[in-house]
Amino acid sequence: MFNLVIFGAPGSGKGTQSKKLIDRYGLTHISTGEVLRSQIAAGTELGKIADSYISKGHLIPDDLMVDILASEVDRLRPTSNGFIFDGFPRTIPQADALKKMLEQRGEEVHSVIGLEVADEELMERLIKRGAESGRADDNPETIGNRLKVYHSTTSPLRDYYNKEGKYTPIHGSGQVEDIFSNIVNAIDSHPALKA
Ligand code: AMP
Repeated sequence: MFNLVIFGAPGSGKGTQSKKLIDRYGLTHISTGEVLRSQIAAGTELGKIADSYISKGHLIPDDLMVDILASEVDRLRPTSNGFIFDGFPRTIPQADALKKMLEQRGEEVHSVIGLEVADEELMERLIKRGAESGRADDNPETIGNRLKVYHSTTSPLRDYYNKEGKYTPIHGSGQVEDIFSNIVNAIDSHPALKA
């Protein structure tokens, strides 16, 4: 298995690049945001809890999020060659939990690709996405909170994965295809894929 984390602020292009990466490497995509949005759309209890956090731009509590991720991993693992984790981990306790969860299953995170985009561009992209997709949390107030949470709570994971020698920063502005080919170059040079 090859397990990849696609990392970056809201609006940095994680979803767009994940779609292309699935096609190229045949990996299984787990987007925690999409899992939560589908629970909200289905009106489940979990969806109601998730909505109360998402609509404010806050993170879902770690314990709940880790349980959701573990059940997705176990549901999809039998048919998977590896995962793209998109939107998880978002906190240091989540990263610790992911490491432990994968270790218990004889796996690991091989590589973390960080899409780096300036805040002004993120804000512009998210407002545009909100207008086009109608995603409820893509409104200026919630976007502002999400970017604050990203900088205070999620961005320390760059150091976390840097120390493990797993973090590759990728400039996330410009043409989607150019960004994708930079990601592919970084992944293809990974020893776990060359083997
Ligand atoms: P995303 O689609 O990844 O931008 O996620 C949308 C929202 O879902 C986030 O703003 C959070 O409220 C929630 N969410 C998604 N993933 C996580 C996570 N790993 N930890 C906590 N909250 C999350």
